[in-house]
Amino acid sequence: MRRFQSYKLESYLEHLKSLKITREIKDIHLHHTWKPTKKGYHLASNKEQVIYGMWKYHTETLGWQDIGQHVTVSPDGLVWDGRDVNQVPASIMGYNQKAFAIEMIGNFDKGQEVLEGAQYEAVVKLIQGLFDLFKTDHLVFHRDHASKTCPGSSLDKAMFLDRIHRKVKIMGTAVATHSQMKQYLLSVNPSPKLNSSVDALIVYYLEEGDMEGVRGDIAFAQALKETGFFRYGGIVTPDQNNYAGLGALAGSKPGEGASFPTPRIGVRAHIQHLKGYATKEPPKQPVVDPRYAVLQNAGLLGTAPFVTDLNGKWAVPGKDYGEGILKILDKILSMPLTGNDTVPGNQMFIEEIKQLRERVAALEMEIDRYKLLFHNISHQIQTFQRQ
Ligand SMILES: [Zn+2]
Repeated sequence: MRRFQSYKLESYLEHLKSLKITREIKDIHLHHTWKPTKKGYHLASNKEQVIYGMWKYHTETLGWQDIGQHVTVSPDGLVWDGRDVNQVPASIMGYNQKAFAIEMIGNFDKGQEVLEGAQYEAVVKLIQGLFDLFKTDHLVFHRDHASKTCPGSSLDKAMFLDRIHRKVKIMGTAVATHSQMKQYLLSVNPSPKLNSSVDALIVYYLEEGDMEGVRGDIAFAQALKETGFFRYGGIVTPDQNNYAGLGALAGSKPGEGASFPTPRIGVRAHIQHLKGYATKEPPKQPVVDPRYAVLQNAGLLGTAPFVTDLNGKWAVPGKDYGEGILKILDKILSMPLTGNDTVPGNQMFIEEIKQLRERVAALEMEIDRYKLLFHNISHQIQTFQRQ
């Protein structure tokens, strides 16, 4: 009997990385099964049988050489293997050559089942992982090339891509803790070249960020990127307390660019500059960022509310600049929640933070669902009004 194996998302990506990929993969195809439904999967006592059933249909009824898709994501968030990744899938006729095909179990047409929870999260993370691995950002819905609703008329592609590209707002409250920021910096560079202690610098980022409503953890991640984890070596030198390359333009000599009298003022200037990109709302404290007026005159104030909007603005050409910051932020957030932030041994507190974070993640997904619902309803109203 043809067997199928299920993986948790992270182990599936590990597994994929361990394979030797012998063909070019550029297009990530997304389908819903329509049948089997989520309900059918939930009711099945042997989940592998559900995948086996699809294999049987594809090979025996349709006469394909193997199950059509490379993976199937089930409602419990598991990733089931399928056709050999080095084989072209039976995904969308005429578009299969460079495709990686994903099936999601469920019927996601409007009014039917809902893509949510563990399955939604797994699909989003799977596509992020495939984008990374295959250096692409090309997501294809089956309906892009066929007169079908697949992967479901309830899914909005633009919104789906927003989620995958992690639109993260610069304004807001820091999510990472002091200890996570410290742990990650020191794990990469144990001796950062700073004119303050690491602890003091992190306090400045969190305090100055809070003061202006800017996420201090994002600004800190950006500083790590800009200074090479405070190793420097570019135009800016450590004595300048300039953590974001302010005024250091391409072609400048070492030591050029802005200098700040203290680390705190350097952080303040960085936060103000970031705020300038994120919002038109002026800084609350007197402006110490020598480049703030430049932003203003160039009409750039408030033009980059999301981290990835900095691409081509803060950094030119800056492709992947914001993504690089978000990757560092992810690493920071993956540090264990222990250390200076918590009372030693207070496991309950740590657990509580963990649970709250999980709840926030779940709520974010709920919000996405409601946004989609709202989007669909307004679309229907518009259609109705046109009739
Ligand atoms: Zn399809």
